[in-house]
Amino acid sequence: MSPPPECPDPACGRRLLWKDTTHTKHGPEFWKWTCSGCRRQYEPTHHDRRRYAHAAPGPAAAAPVVHSSPGPPQPPR
Ligand SMILES: [Zn+2]
Repeated sequence: MSPPPECPDPACGRRLLWKDTTHTKHGPEFWKWTCSGCRRQYEPTHHDRRRYAHAAPGPAAAAPVVHSSPGPPQPPR
């Protein structure tokens, strides 16, 4: 599964967005991105809606942001 994108606001510190499905009463595709840092909501792009259509909603707890010492490159999944 693809990791979620980072907050588009550079001042936020590259927090990850999570898939907020609290507004999907009009349909499962009407979810939004919510930033785990600043809590602002962002409209997913058309590409995002397709790419993350089956992603699990909720905070991306399994993907902490690491700022120090990048490790070896991860193999593509
Ligand atoms: Zn943010």
